Amino acid sequence: MTTENLTIQITKVNESKITQVDWENLPFGRVFSDHILIMDYINGAWKTPEIVPFDNLNLHPATSALHYGQAVFEGMKANRMVDGKISVFRPEMNAARFRESCARMCMAEIDENVFVSLLAQFIKIEKDWIPQKEGYSLYLRPFMFATDSYIGVKPSDSYRFAIFACPVGAYYTEPVNVKIEEFYTRAANGGVGRAKAAGNYAAALYPAKLAQSQGFHQLIWTDAISHEYIEESGTMNIVFVINGKMISPSEDSDTILRGVTKRSVLEIAKMWGIPVEERKVSVKEVIEAAKNGSLEDAFGAGTAATIAPIAKIGFRDEVFQLPAIETRTLSNKIKTYLDQVKSGEIQDDNNWCLKIN
Ligand SMILES: *Cc1c(COP(=O)(O)O)cnc(C)c1O
Repeated sequence: MTTENLTIQITKVNESKITQVDWENLPFGRVFSDHILIMDYINGAWKTPEIVPFDNLNLHPATSALHYGQAVFEGMKANRMVDGKISVFRPEMNAARFRESCARMCMAEIDENVFVSLLAQFIKIEKDWIPQKEGYSLYLRPFMFATDSYIGVKPSDSYRFAIFACPVGAYYTEPVNVKIEEFYTRAANGGVGRAKAAGNYAAALYPAKLAQSQGFHQLIWTDAISHEYIEESGTMNIVFVINGKMISPSEDSDTILRGVTKRSVLEIAKMWGIPVEERKVSVKEVIEAAKNGSLEDAFGAGTAATIAPIAKIGFRDEVFQLPAIETRTLSNKIKTYLDQVKSGEIQDDNNWCLKIN
């Protein structure tokens, strides 16, 4: 399958739901656009992709993804640019990560160019769903799951790939409070932490719920063996600024999801001459920096929130208050830069955005 001969069969809705949307009050991930793209993998080949009216899926009770968890996803956003075009931020990185997630989960793979092409064509169909308002965007959710109707444990022979879209506002409305987790584990070496695999998020719910009952929004995960090294946070990667240096856990181990946002944040910092270190980051180092005032900033980086400043870090019985959000000049500047590249207010020197006419 190549992108050139990639034809999509399109069936549009008779009447759009768009007039029913309350654009002033858009909860994250609860409003869905008119269509869904679906492409099935059967007998060793991808079938013709279809864009059809958004509707429930009809599943056999033995659908293997529901039992054994072969399911992966991606998350990205389409933004309206000032010149009227549409931008999607570095989708080829999501396409590559999606393929890697599929490979790790023993699922059929999709060529990266095909992935991006399907996404772009789907966005064109749903273009009216991209909110105009600043900070708002059309969240895109490509995903794939195993569809064999068989309860034996083996890699499925058939899969369904789909993309749907949700118009969204800002993800977090306030700075986040996070707790350093020293007992539960998100990912172990040799596991599936690097894959955007559905089960990773199910496994994180219980420890996150415990943290929420203690007044935190999210966890900061530590390594599975010693719990001495910081890995990432919930659905975001984590970045610290200590003594003017930007520091983030390296992705050498296969326990950290390789985020597009974090990669871009670090690339921007480097471009601006900020010292950047990707290495092991110990809990001890961060707590000491928080105590002696050299921890200037800490934030989560991910597509949903872009940059989510961390207000408080909980560690054992203590809670450390981080500097006021207004003082976080570097991450504020990076967020603005990213927003303006996506909206076309400044030039996209790195050619990061896919632009759709
Ligand atoms: C999606 C995700 C991220 C952020 O990745 P982006 O590509 O920046 O959106 C970070 N950590 C986990 C566990 C994730 O699922």
